[in-house]
Amino acid sequence: MGSYIDNDIKFLSGVGEKRANLLKKELGISTMRDLLYYFPFRYIDRSRIYKISEITSESPAYIQLRVRVEGYSRFGEGRRKRLVAYVADGTGTAELIWFSGINWMEKRLEIGREYIVFGRPGFFNNELSIVHPELESVGTVRTRPGSGMQGVYSTTEILSSNQLGSRGIYHLVCNLWEAAEKHITETLPEEIMLANGLIGLKEALHNIHFPQNPEKLKQAEYRLKFEELFGIQLGILVQRKGRVSSETGFVFSRVGEKFNEFYNGHLPFELTKAQKRVIKEIRADTVTGHQMNRLLQGDVGSGKTLVALMSMLLAVDNGYQACMMAPTEILARQHYATIVKLLGDMDVRVGIITGTTKKRERDMLLEALSDGSLDILLGTHALIEDRVQFANLGFVVIDEQHRFGVEQRARLWTKNNQPPHVLVMTATPIPRTLAMTLYGDLDVSVIDELPPGRKPVKTYHVRDSQRLRVFGFMAEQIAAGRQIYVVYPLISGSEKMDYKDLEDGFDSISQQFPLPEYNTVVVHGRLKPAQKEENMNMFKEGKAHIMVATSVIEVGVDVPNASVMVIESAERFGLSQLHQLRGRVGRGADQAYCILMSGDKLSKEAKARLQAMVATNDGFELSELDLKLRGAGDISGTQQSGLAFELKIANLGKDSQIVETARTAAQLVIDAMERFAPSDRVLLETIRNRYSYPKGQDFSMIS
Ligand code: ADP
Ligand code: MG
Repeated sequence: MGSYIDNDIKFLSGVGEKRANLLKKELGISTMRDLLYYFPFRYIDRSRIYKISEITSESPAYIQLRVRVEGYSRFGEGRRKRLVAYVADGTGTAELIWFSGINWMEKRLEIGREYIVFGRPGFFNNELSIVHPELESVGTVRTRPGSGMQGVYSTTEILSSNQLGSRGIYHLVCNLWEAAEKHITETLPEEIMLANGLIGLKEALHNIHFPQNPEKLKQAEYRLKFEELFGIQLGILVQRKGRVSSETGFVFSRVGEKFNEFYNGHLPFELTKAQKRVIKEIRADTVTGHQMNRLLQGDVGSGKTLVALMSMLLAVDNGYQACMMAPTEILARQHYATIVKLLGDMDVRVGIITGTTKKRERDMLLEALSDGSLDILLGTHALIEDRVQFANLGFVVIDEQHRFGVEQRARLWTKNNQPPHVLVMTATPIPRTLAMTLYGDLDVSVIDELPPGRKPVKTYHVRDSQRLRVFGFMAEQIAAGRQIYVVYPLISGSEKMDYKDLEDGFDSISQQFPLPEYNTVVVHGRLKPAQKEENMNMFKEGKAHIMVATSVIEVGVDVPNASVMVIESAERFGLSQLHQLRGRVGRGADQAYCILMSGDKLSKEAKARLQAMVATNDGFELSELDLKLRGAGDISGTQQSGLAFELKIANLGKDSQIVETARTAAQLVIDAMERFAPSDRVLLETIRNRYSYPKGQDFSMIS
């Protein structure tokens, strides 16, 4: 746009080439605007000057003093080197200590001179000391743009060692404000600001960096959060409108032979009401002539696979192919086995493609796919490779959505000239506000009912020290004919250690439950595929009593006779993962148990997670709580899901109310586009472009 604030950050006074590169690399700040939108993550009170005698261990984390330097000296050599300044203010004495930048500091210190000192107080031998304080001569204290509250900016080690610690960044922002203030223009139409009680952008940016008071800070946060969420919602709604208004969806006009044959002759049980409702919703979507984009949420074990299969049969009945993508090989194979079994002798050709499919088999498969003789293809992300070409793909199912990226999804629907219908299934119940933001362009269906006859899983939290009791319980269950999972965490980064935990665990369980009476198998990612499969089969066929595994079994293992899930180091799992794991048991008619093992020392959050697991089986309740505990990052799996926008200030967990408000506002704008003046339209377009993904369609599509 050519505004001043779009200039490279290197031109800002105090930056220059080298620091500009660092800022870009470390914090992604490359323009002045980026810095302007780099907000403090908290604030400290600088309105008050303390007396040395007042400072106790109860004092705030940061304090400000006005002191006179009485003397200073250097100690130590090499890495131990330090500079200590002795200061006093008439009520007591204190020490200021530096371990780096000593020469520079020493030049600045002047005995007898008064300074304003700011930093984190500490006590050593009853003497107040401040390490690496901020220090300014009394006469030259910089008048700050705000008042008492000073922003603290997050930074990195490399930046800190280049004088760009929080304080350094703060000073850059001061410089920036001086230079940029007059270039900041409003980004929201007045009508929207009025309707939502928002303060102007300039005032908001000023108060987010230099709050005049807590009240102003609140208003600033609200305005900026609103702007961010509103921009995202605008993008989503524009995209949605584009999809809904274009007539490019396949029409599945017939409910044909195969669907009916399956429904009447192959269904092993009555569909639940919820399953029926969702299938109806999908049928309704696929006759509109618009592309379907539907998110199906259903708790673990609610029977999503059946819904997927019947939807795919609808496609097949109408002469189209269908495919279903799963996040792991185990899950894909599980689907394949389930579906082949359900279809029985029906004339539907089903194939599976994964990373380990042999070339010969794959070539045959790909040929059948491109000549149209294959009806349904299952697989992992091997499905989205370019060489996988369909004759006429009409329906796509994506299972366990949270593991796939937006981009991966998009690649599936570009396999055709015409976009196929898309059904995205997830067992991670996503709270409404989050769904609205992450998948705002999807319609949502919910399976809110489990198949009949399921007893809720009983969950217990047990400390490691009580392990023997757990072994005793396991023995009882095995004696009663049940099978047991024991799961170890697998967290990337410390894989070696994790495998060691798992192997030690396997050894100790094998000792506790020795052959030939008991049989324990192990399943994890490092096994050869053939070995893994053999071990899985042993367990599936009931020949093994215990399966020791990593969290790879989180999705996709279906053994109704397994009734106990023991989760080791449960404190290391997230809530949704724990819930998923628990969903592996309780699939048969027997009472099932989930045992959460943990150490004795737990963080507050870990304790809250385990308590929540014990208290409820309701996945939606758990995910709401998870969102509160952790913010949205982990739930959405931001990195994994390839979420294309990063929230700078809003928090989907804490700001759900603002999400709703912003959504409503965005909907009103879309509905009333023509009421806005052309200049307002430009503003709206700008804000949408700044925050939204994917880019591409614009407001001209909306009339
Ligand atoms: P998820 O939603 O977790 O993918 P699945 O589709 O794997 O659940 O189904 C879980 C189990 O419930 C499977 O063993 C499946 O055969 C069974 N199931 C599905 N629908 C019904 C139903 N209507 N009645 C009884 N059992 C069902
Ligand atoms: Mg499933």
